[in-house]
Amino acid sequence: MTEPADVARLTRDITSGLKTGDLEDFYQDLHRHPELAFREHRTAAKLAARLRAAGYEVTEGVARTGVVGVLAHGDGPVVWLRGDMDALPVREATGLPYASTVDGVMHACGHDLHITWLTAAAEVLAAARDTWSGTLVVVGQPAEEAGGGAAAMVADGIHERFPRPDALFGQHVAPGLAGFYPHTPGLTLSASDDIDVVVHGLGGHGSRPESTVDPVVTAAHVVTRLQTVVSREVAAGESAVLTVGRFHAGTQSNVIPAEARLGLNVRTQDVRVRERVLTAVRRIVEGECAAAGCPVPPEVTVHRGYPSTVNDPSLDARIAAVHRELLGEHTVFDFGPAMGSEDFSLLAPEGVPYDYWYVTSTPAAVWDAAPGEELMEKFLNVPGNHSPLFAPDPSVLIPGTRTLVSAALSRLGGTGT
Ligand code: ZN
Ligand code: ZN
Repeated sequence: MTEPADVARLTRDITSGLKTGDLEDFYQDLHRHPELAFREHRTAAKLAARLRAAGYEVTEGVARTGVVGVLAHGDGPVVWLRGDMDALPVREATGLPYASTVDGVMHACGHDLHITWLTAAAEVLAAARDTWSGTLVVVGQPAEEAGGGAAAMVADGIHERFPRPDALFGQHVAPGLAGFYPHTPGLTLSASDDIDVVVHGLGGHGSRPESTVDPVVTAAHVVTRLQTVVSREVAAGESAVLTVGRFHAGTQSNVIPAEARLGLNVRTQDVRVRERVLTAVRRIVEGECAAAGCPVPPEVTVHRGYPSTVNDPSLDARIAAVHRELLGEHTVFDFGPAMGSEDFSLLAPEGVPYDYWYVTSTPAAVWDAAPGEELMEKFLNVPGNHSPLFAPDPSVLIPGTRTLVSAALSRLGGTGT
């Protein structure tokens, strides 16, 4: 089946029995019990139990807490559906009746919703397996937020131990009036790298700076000069963000410390720009330290983070067409590449096409009450991912299941024949 209308019709048909209340029970339970990266034991056990009951062959403990469910149903393509499971160290402030019961931990990025969608989609597709042929692989990924969960699953052999995908799908809940499904062909999320810098000066008495090499002043010059990387070294048509998010030095006002430490985050959307920015950072740090006469060269440690997420344009066009057909022509649009980052793409073996889209979730009442006239103004004024007030609308439970089901059906074989 390749026609979007046919896939949409079949999706509507096989998801017609879904009840918001049932999905809500599962979702609210996950929301009450958030778990941090690589500690998603309860979440993983819930997902695994539901997959097993639906007929999947389930492997737990992939990269510690990851879950992989495989459902083979005849010859045909192998489709992977991925959801991430981890919560964040955020203290929830939503006041919801099903708010987090774990102090200081919250599903502030909506990964509880991702797992609810994934579970419901896996169950629907298993119950309707006679409408498709091929192999469905359901991946519950740990530690998306900070732990490198996708890379850990790859290191634990996910590409060798399970059927190799012909396509990989994922989706993320996003702020914005509930009921839209933004799709971006090609580049959709940026690469993210962290850099630690240590400036070595020469400490001494605050009254005798001439006997020291002051690392505070040197590091301050580094921070200022780094502002020229994006403005002076990245072309107008290209994008990068360089943030110095951490600056630590000294213990008290009359002591010139021996060192200063900086923490940088770099977001880029092109591998050449990424390399150029990383090279410029190193050059500027070394140059400023040499100019200050630091006794020891600085340490610059690059922690390569998540790569950019680049949707396969033809696969994205195909899935976007199915989502338009299923959820309404006006609900799918392209809002271009974002500066956020994801490790989703690492789960696709080299050369395997993938598609990653968004499901907007801001309740209509919250959206209407947000200050602003223009869409972008409102967008910036509603609680977004990682906010202690992030509270997706339950109305997205069924549509977010349908987006996954229809993506899988449009790539699996044998439907409607
Ligand atoms: Zn997040
Ligand atoms: Zn997230």
